[in-house]
Amino acid sequence: MNGLSEEKSGQELFALISELYPFCRSITGNGVRQTLEVLQKTIPVVRHEVASGTPVFDWVIPQEWNIKAAFIKDPAGRKIIDFDSCNLHVVGYSSPVHQVMEFSELRKHIFTLPDRPEWIPYRTSYFKDSWGFCMSHNQLLSMKDGKYEVLIDSSLTQGHLTYGELLIKGKTSKEVLISTHLCHPSLCNDNLSGIALAWQLARTLSSVPLKYSYRFLFLPATIGSIAWLALNEQSAARIQHGLVLAGVGDSGRSTYKKTRKGDTEIDRAAMYVLRHSGEDFEVMDFIPYGYDERQFCSPGFNLPVGCLMRTPFNQYPEYHTSADNLSFVKPEFLANSFRKCLSLLNVLERNAVYINQNPKCEPQLGRRGIFRAFSERTGGPEQEMALLWILNLSDGTCSLLDIAERSKLPFDLIWEASELLLQHGLLKATAVQ
Ligand code: ZN
Repeated sequence: MNGLSEEKSGQELFALISELYPFCRSITGNGVRQTLEVLQKTIPVVRHEVASGTPVFDWVIPQEWNIKAAFIKDPAGRKIIDFDSCNLHVVGYSSPVHQVMEFSELRKHIFTLPDRPEWIPYRTSYFKDSWGFCMSHNQLLSMKDGKYEVLIDSSLTQGHLTYGELLIKGKTSKEVLISTHLCHPSLCNDNLSGIALAWQLARTLSSVPLKYSYRFLFLPATIGSIAWLALNEQSAARIQHGLVLAGVGDSGRSTYKKTRKGDTEIDRAAMYVLRHSGEDFEVMDFIPYGYDERQFCSPGFNLPVGCLMRTPFNQYPEYHTSADNLSFVKPEFLANSFRKCLSLLNVLERNAVYINQNPKCEPQLGRRGIFRAFSERTGGPEQEMALLWILNLSDGTCSLLDIAERSKLPFDLIWEASELLLQHGLLKATAVQ
């Protein structure tokens, strides 16, 4: 499925992240629309708008937040904080304010990271009426008593929650869900890396024949996935496998967080791909905390949706700070995550359960020319074993992935062998595929 060189893929992923980096995204607002407009230049993602006030299960779509400008001017009238230079300076969803106030009063609205005095934290205040600024701790220490002019030119209105959706149709209406959040402002690993990876997967899958249909969702975290699930319960029922992508561009090892069920096909395919990557990796059991897998795996849905990351979100100091920037993600790590994702989808696409049509003793493969045909196609000493393993285990209960695991042979070799046996009428697909 992969027509891209790894180097080119990494550069393309990084270029998209660089283009999206300056936008001020939040759970609603024009930053989300701007982001989707950039994606729409290369993939036919559809923009959906859900009106403020719409009930979605136990939640309500909030007012839409937009911001034009924000600053703090010191007692001498110098602009010491400017939203235009870094959108992390304003607490997301800050209500509008324009006041002159004493430093002691302003101080209550300032957030810093004393342990990382150079970095600016990322903060939000969804679902409550407040405002605030984020800055480096060093900058806070340099501020003196006196009167400061504070402006946040933001608006909270009856608007919409915006999300993007793209369905790539395959042979069946059974779906693979690829979901990522798009609600963070200038932060690269969390969450632009997930957006970029989903975009690259969508571009790649658009040009190849597929067994499954693929539904891509670009959602504001939490409220976006809750809204989508509330408004699309019928579509949700078609999801056979799902993956949330987040934090896939840092230098850490790949991490897969299992689905709530813990032993679904996507869990097994992800672990298979990571085990055979030749690289260090981590597998986490499901916990009801993290990204939107929390909603997809809520008990009322319990969808088989796992999460692919590199370093988990709360385990790197740059997380939710200005240090999660364009230097923190690298093309090579993005490309590495992309390659693993494609391998995982390749396993899902090719995995199947077959029934041996000649189960009483081994069929005579030499007479059918199968050994010769197989060695011409793939070469190597493992071919005969692949054929024998498939014939032996294909009793309608073992999938090709089961056979690859048990035989310790590469999945693609097992798949190649199964195709040949199918052509010779020695295998038949089970009804449930
Ligand atoms: Zn985040």
